[in-house]
Amino acid sequence: MEKDFIKIFEAIDTKKAKQERENIASMQAAGLYPKYFSYPITLQFELTGSCNLKCKHCYNRSGDEDRIRYTKMTPEKWKQLAHQIVKDGGIFQCIISGGEPLLLGDDLFDIMDILHYDGTSFVVITNGLLLNNENVKKFAKYRYFWFQISIDGHTAELHDDFRGLKNSWNNAVNGAMEISNIGIPLMIAHSVTPKTLPYLEEMINLAYSVGAGGLMIGEILPSGRAITNTELLLSPTQRNELYKQINILSQKYAGKINIERSMNISTSMSRYVSQPNGGGIIRPNGDFRLDCMVPFTIGNVLDDPIRYIWQKKGRNAWQHPKVLNFIQSIDKKKQQGNILNHVNDDIKI
Ligand code: SF4
Repeated sequence: MEKDFIKIFEAIDTKKAKQERENIASMQAAGLYPKYFSYPITLQFELTGSCNLKCKHCYNRSGDEDRIRYTKMTPEKWKQLAHQIVKDGGIFQCIISGGEPLLLGDDLFDIMDILHYDGTSFVVITNGLLLNNENVKKFAKYRYFWFQISIDGHTAELHDDFRGLKNSWNNAVNGAMEISNIGIPLMIAHSVTPKTLPYLEEMINLAYSVGAGGLMIGEILPSGRAITNTELLLSPTQRNELYKQINILSQKYAGKINIERSMNISTSMSRYVSQPNGGGIIRPNGDFRLDCMVPFTIGNVLDDPIRYIWQKKGRNAWQHPKVLNFIQSIDKKKQQGNILNHVNDDIKI
């Protein structure tokens, strides 16, 4: 009988999360880990709601008219926020995303510079379309956890159809090579659809050939544009096959490229709940949101200083009853085919 790989992976996730909780609890008991963070240690800057692509699965629906209008944080406002963070004592990690962050041009580097010279390290998430020899050199000076480029097919045909723009595969692949050639740690993110599921090994070879140290493989969740593009979602049998293949291929390619699978959404949420909150996302309209898949906001950086927002609501936000109720309903929402419908429906807590 075929093994249920989804259950196996969920059990591994749950075991890992439990282990992590226990480790944190024992470190807290020994006074080696804080009960709460007095300031965020990691923040994601969603720099814009604009995008030069219109991907069929975008959870943010970036590039749609309402998403562009929703962008209230100008580059100057982002720089002011970065200065405010440095003045407050700084953050450990900043995740740069969008929309497409490279649309900010040189302003992007100005924002990164403010945090970089304060000691912050980065994750950059981009579609790779605007990477070129010149801007890749500018990216070289920063410290990274990783630099992430999305490639959703081992051929141009598969990727371009999914991403909605001819030649987007060529640009992403060339950009990825430029990034790895200059020595920046490269991660390729790959969203699997029923069409691309048979080509996982080809995808691993592509990621390896462009110099990636890691390939993050995930299925598409029913949120944002994917709610209406249901042909992108895997059936239970296909999902099981995906997990089975990840299991086989991660062992086959161990030591050559690190194959990671995006974590089960319920598990990652339950981890947040059981640990001291460490950060959140600053949205293009200035809202401070808990997570991309959780529609709760705790303030707006255009109205209040980030320190005030954090101390008032951020530290214990994951334990708010509305958040806990939402997390408990995630699996049901997933089955119903709709985790997050309109990203504008954020709920203030
Ligand atoms: S490139 Fe990213 S932000 Fe832009 S539409 Fe695609 S998924 Fe959304």
